Amino acid sequence: MDTTTQARPASPLAGGIETAARALEAQVIAWRRDFHANPELGNREFRTAGIVAEHLRKLSFDEVTTGVAHTGVVGLLKGARPGPVVALRADMDALPVAEEVDLPFASKVRAEWNGEQVGVMHACGHDAHVAILMGVAEVLAGLRAQLRGTLKFIFQPAEELPPEGEEGGAKMMVEQGVMDNPRPDAVFGLHVTSRLPVGVIGYRPGPAMASADTLRITIHGRQTHGAMPWYGVDPIVTSAQVVLGLQTIVSRETDLTHEPAVVTIGAIKGGVRENIIPDSVEMRGTIRSFDEAMRDDIHERVTYLAEAISRGARAGCTVCIRKNYPVTVNDPALTEAMLPTLRRVAGAQHTVLVPKVMGSEDFSFFQRVSPGLFFFVGVTPETVELGKSAPNHSPRFFIDERALLLGVRALAHVACDYLER
Ligand SMILES: [Zn+2]
Ligand SMILES: [Zn+2]
Repeated sequence: MDTTTQARPASPLAGGIETAARALEAQVIAWRRDFHANPELGNREFRTAGIVAEHLRKLSFDEVTTGVAHTGVVGLLKGARPGPVVALRADMDALPVAEEVDLPFASKVRAEWNGEQVGVMHACGHDAHVAILMGVAEVLAGLRAQLRGTLKFIFQPAEELPPEGEEGGAKMMVEQGVMDNPRPDAVFGLHVTSRLPVGVIGYRPGPAMASADTLRITIHGRQTHGAMPWYGVDPIVTSAQVVLGLQTIVSRETDLTHEPAVVTIGAIKGGVRENIIPDSVEMRGTIRSFDEAMRDDIHERVTYLAEAISRGARAGCTVCIRKNYPVTVNDPALTEAMLPTLRRVAGAQHTVLVPKVMGSEDFSFFQRVSPGLFFFVGVTPETVELGKSAPNHSPRFFIDERALLLGVRALAHVACDYLER
């Protein structure tokens, strides 16, 4: 631990932030419960975005832009004194999960998702993210007379991938110029997590969350009777060889001392009955990595190996890899610079270095434009054993709402300390 940086004093606004954040706690909890009871799927965050935009306008933001990347809202708050530009981001979308938590504000919402009727729930805690950032907006808008620089508030749709066939999320926001005019000098975001107890903040410099890419392989054989396989080309046996072959990419060909990686086949579909060898088999999988060069290398090897194995079986093979989210890389210098702030807000003993997360985040697209720090806020109550808390995306995911105030304080202090540096 670097104890020299711990002594750095808080910005002159620190006292004001504390008073305002604590006064706003009940309101932030009320916002979160309202969003929780009314969750909306990716690219469909119409109600949520409406509430956010109205809130920012009520706070007399200098600019409020709506309809960014479908339903996104971007607000600009200019301080009275000149200074750098800081972006703060919250994601707004819920998941196609039917809630199983027994709460008065539990979600009963159902909606259509990729052609299916599904339950909808804020099972990743984005309801908390929106409420926290609305709270930060109100706290800092109240201090704008003393505020240095400019704050850009980004309320983002579709972090959990848009519906099939649609574009969306952080990538689309960046393409639409969210990170321009003005370009942020730093971007900050947080995620609530069941992996940490309430009251604890987790951080990690460098690669913190994995890249995530979707893999689709089609093996093209030739249909024949199951009793006479020699008259055709069997895509089922070939796909089995491909599944096993792909396992050697991480275990034999990737330098695991540098960064970990994963290649998973999660779906395999082919054939209709026991005695017919089908024409083709389709497989779907995911590829995770923590280094962009390794990521490209794995993609190349997956394609080469699947094609080579198929060729050996006289089958055709189509490999399609869709790059979804890049590696979430926390700028090491920025992380080190903001660590004293996180320690001051949560307490040094409650600010912990966390392991890498194999999950992914499209916050990474913002970090590709400006140095960024994405940190974690624990939501598991002390009464629940850590390993036994329902994880993010579970129908039983539960947030101890004391985490909300910590989130508001952390983001507000981080932003102000950066602007005052
Ligand atoms: Zn999620
Ligand atoms: Zn999430």
